[in-house]
Amino acid sequence: MDQPSTNGSIWGRVPIDPQPTLESDIRAKILVIGAGGSGLAAVDEALSLGEKDIVCIDAGRIASGAAGKNGGLLLAGLADPYHTVSKFIGRERARQAYDMTEREIDRMLVETHDCVRRTGSLRIETTPPLLDDCRAHMQALIDDGFHVDRYEGPEGTGLLLPNDAVFHPVEHCKQKVAQVLQGGAMLFEHTKAREIESGRVVTSGGTIHCEHIIAAVDGKLDLLFPELKEEITPYRLQMAATEQAPLRFRRPIYWNDGYNYLQQLEDGSFAVGGGRDEHGAAEITHCDDTTEPVQDHIRGLLSELGIDQEITHRWAAVVSYTKNGLPIAREVRHKVIALGAYCGTGNVMGRILGRAAVHASLRRDFSTIDLFTKDPSS
Ligand SMILES: Cc1cc2nc3c(=O)[nH]c(=O)nc-3n(C[C@H](O)[C@H](O)[C@H](O)COP(=O)(O)OP(=O)(O)OC[C@H]3O[C@@H](n4cnc5c(N)ncnc54)[C@H](O)[C@@H]3O)c2cc1C
Repeated sequence: MDQPSTNGSIWGRVPIDPQPTLESDIRAKILVIGAGGSGLAAVDEALSLGEKDIVCIDAGRIASGAAGKNGGLLLAGLADPYHTVSKFIGRERARQAYDMTEREIDRMLVETHDCVRRTGSLRIETTPPLLDDCRAHMQALIDDGFHVDRYEGPEGTGLLLPNDAVFHPVEHCKQKVAQVLQGGAMLFEHTKAREIESGRVVTSGGTIHCEHIIAAVDGKLDLLFPELKEEITPYRLQMAATEQAPLRFRRPIYWNDGYNYLQQLEDGSFAVGGGRDEHGAAEITHCDDTTEPVQDHIRGLLSELGIDQEITHRWAAVVSYTKNGLPIAREVRHKVIALGAYCGTGNVMGRILGRAAVHASLRRDFSTIDLFTKDPSS
């Protein structure tokens, strides 16, 4: 067969209509930098609050970052397991944040039901310490009234989280793009923000004068905001997908403390990611090329699962991690909010914080941002 495509994700089969490139200076009330899931959610929220004077730019194509190159898992909660988050930020805060993420998945199901499926998800573990961690994870969720079951099945032993879901990330962005264009927002592709200061962003195509700036650039956050460099580490995450196979996994699975993850798509293809645990140092980069060592590792994960279908796609994208596991949504300069560092799980949280950034910008309401991001130890 042909060589698998590199850095064409399996989701790229759904093209999004091209948008213009900025070629002059313009004005807008709100500028959103980054047209991934988080940025598009911010645009959508601004429109729903009646704000029509809104521009969104992307350095590349829409959803060309992690939003179009991820695993498609919609998991409730923050990046760390519930009991760990609860210990760190406090039980009531953890409960509220988890509840919001569950409601966000519900919302995505309603808004774009044809590209979101409520499958539940499986956390599977094999080692005694991680199985103990699963038990603590489950107990903390039960204690706080969330739905979770112990799981024992062909995939292994662990937890079943019935409210989790999967989605087609590019189709989701495509539908959001159609909605925000219809709502009156302006989108520009191949328009890179080069300098950001309060009230003004210099881009590759012209200067945008604006009152509020929301930069939803996740993996590139430290490049746009050097003041965040100490807090953020950019990591490349890699995946591969295979030819179609008979349906075997109804639900997405993550294992090895979340380092590995797999989804079998409705057409039978497997999409699998992992390798950051073993190749972490080499994956600290802003470069999104796939590499042989990690792709070999992923091939090994497939073999361990008895999946021997040919690999058809390989891809990678860069996301940011923080040391404390909490995302960043912060007013870094007057009326400039930097958004990202979801620690590898931004499909749900990114949308919540994209919308929350609009409330912070227009209404000075930082309640949701504080809930998800405030470090209790600092
Ligand atoms: C391989 C992989 C698998 C993953 N799997 C999952 C998963 O299963 N579930 C989950 O919840 N999360 C997952 N994630 C994480 C998730 O994809 C991200 O957290 C999420 O997509 C972030 O969305 P975003 O819109 O904030 O950022 P992005 O999608 O990265 O979008 C940022 C956009 O900003 C643009 N940009 C950057 N710099 C500039 C600039 N200077 N000027 C203008 N535009 C700029 C980029 O071109 C990009 O389009 C995964 C990530 C990867 C890489």
